[in-house]
Amino acid sequence: MMFSTSCRGFACWASKELARLMPLLSFRLAPHQFSSFALILSSLFTLGSSLAFAQGASLSIDSKLDTKSELQAKPMNYDADVIVVGAGAAGLAAASELQSLGYKVTVLEARERIGGRVHTLFDGEQAIEMGANWLHGQDDNPLVALAKQQGHRLSAPTDWGDSLSYDEYGEEIEDTEDLSDRWYTVVAKYIEQYLEREPNASMQMLMDDAQKSGDLGFVSDDLHNLFINFMYEQDWAADAAELSVQAEMDGEDYRGGDPIPLAGFQTILDSLSQKVDVLLARQVSAVQQLEDSVEISYSYQGQTQVMRAKRVVITVPVSILQAGKIRFSPELSARKREAIALLGMGHLNKVWLKFPEVFWDDAQAFLRVSPEKDRFSLWLNVHQVSQQPYLLALSTATQLEAGSDAEIVEEAMLALRGMYGDEIPDPLNSYISRWQNDPFSLGAYSYLRQGGRPEHRQILAENEGLIYFAGEASHSEFPSTVHGAYLSGLREAAKIHKNLNPGAEPLPAKNLLELKEQGDLSESFTEASPKNIGNLETKNNLDQGEKIPALEAKQEQEKLPQAEEFESTEMRKEDDL
Ligand SMILES: Cc1cc2nc3c(=O)[nH]c(=O)nc-3n(C[C@H](O)[C@H](O)[C@H](O)COP(=O)(O)OP(=O)(O)OC[C@H]3O[C@@H](n4cnc5c(N)ncnc54)[C@H](O)[C@@H]3O)c2cc1C
Repeated sequence: MMFSTSCRGFACWASKELARLMPLLSFRLAPHQFSSFALILSSLFTLGSSLAFAQGASLSIDSKLDTKSELQAKPMNYDADVIVVGAGAAGLAAASELQSLGYKVTVLEARERIGGRVHTLFDGEQAIEMGANWLHGQDDNPLVALAKQQGHRLSAPTDWGDSLSYDEYGEEIEDTEDLSDRWYTVVAKYIEQYLEREPNASMQMLMDDAQKSGDLGFVSDDLHNLFINFMYEQDWAADAAELSVQAEMDGEDYRGGDPIPLAGFQTILDSLSQKVDVLLARQVSAVQQLEDSVEISYSYQGQTQVMRAKRVVITVPVSILQAGKIRFSPELSARKREAIALLGMGHLNKVWLKFPEVFWDDAQAFLRVSPEKDRFSLWLNVHQVSQQPYLLALSTATQLEAGSDAEIVEEAMLALRGMYGDEIPDPLNSYISRWQNDPFSLGAYSYLRQGGRPEHRQILAENEGLIYFAGEASHSEFPSTVHGAYLSGLREAAKIHKNLNPGAEPLPAKNLLELKEQGDLSESFTEASPKNIGNLETKNNLDQGEKIPALEAKQEQEKLPQAEEFESTEMRKEDDL
């Protein structure tokens, strides 16, 4: 098998270098209900109260049921062909593609902004990325093509090899590039063995084993821990004790280096959102699958409202599914729930500091052995990217968010003073992300937990009847990235198109065709192939007359009217659309 890495950051400059040198390795190195009865009742209450709201009347649940036969006579009415939940890269890609194919699409987004984990703030002219920063790989990366098509300037790819390392006392550590290459050569052998012998082990177990064996005797414990952090923990935003050794097989990379969009990552997503109907501040709480429609309940300005569509695409982070923030009826399959549980959600935050002047080294990155695990161990020299006096710290420390802004800045300055002396100036400004405490992300991005396998991403991507799933965690080729999220949205759009048009051949994604016409994607890239947009197979093709057995059985058992007999169109406030 091909030797490739799926590293997405600094962590991998050494492994990538090594990958070039070790083409003969024989393995690929890479880098969660609700009782249905209760839900149906709850939906009836929700529908009834929304109807009452829309009609300015007060209906009891009994009077709602009395309206059944009247409403039954009306033809099925959909609010949209497809409703997309979430306006991040995946949701916007799915919506944009489906819209291009002629479908009526509405996106429901909980936040009061689009972008999700792509979030750019501005400090004067400096784009401050709170989430995604790098376009990982230039060659054939659709987002690079999209950025170029829109005329965005990209930085030169970050040269992660151009870095300096410091020990706990601020002394420079020599030869770290060479040492990390040697370290990775040993670790790669252990990974090969572990994947065969102990595929459910954690990365930390493997690392401890390698260290105890003496094979890594040429690096100090501090350096060993620093390499683990940079090679794996930063890359997957996960503690090595939680990260599966299978992470090494999880995903691929585009080649060509990692540039930064200078005008901000969010600008790349803005164009996608212009084409689609995005409703902000709508937090989806329940998805109920009926025989031939899906009803989506969401809160808006303190009211619960309901929309109905032929299909729904769920693009929320896997952590939102794990936390049960969206109730599914019928509940998701056991297979899907297991896959969701075995995908972890990482923790990674950013601390941006603006200084009155540049006092740091002329290298692209600085590594530092920190007394506490990964507290201000990795710094990016932003000055080399934008010529502005900023430093950016990336931290996977789980407890970082617990501190106040002032405490976090103070700790960051302690780290910097350890490297550059007490006389360096205080920062003029700071920006600190808190992705774990953000209720709509509950973490940074997905990784394979101990026991998790890359196939769990594919299972997450399987549709359950009329409910489709996209998002970075569902893309097995490019997980944990913005381009993976984008491609997962195109994949689900293609699946829905195929599902609504059973005889149709898979189409090249229109979004990708447009980019190819600009000459920025290779000929083969526009094919609707699994490699490019993922597996197009759908499950439970209800268009072919199949019913949802669980729901059917429950409705028969409970003798309840089908909730779909209540129209949802009138339930929306006029200003919703
Ligand atoms: C600190 C950090 C650094 C990163 N660095 C990079 C990088 O350099 N390069 C890279 O490629 N990737 C990077 N990533 C990962 C990248 O940002 C994500 O993989 C990608 O943006 C995920 O897109 P998505 O559409 O799958 O999910 P999201 O962007 O999370 O979109 C999901 C949307 O669903 C919404 N939502 C959640 N719950 C609900 C609900 N109940 N109802 C309605 N809407 C809801 C959310 O508000 C969100 O807008 C980074 C992420 C972080 C946090």
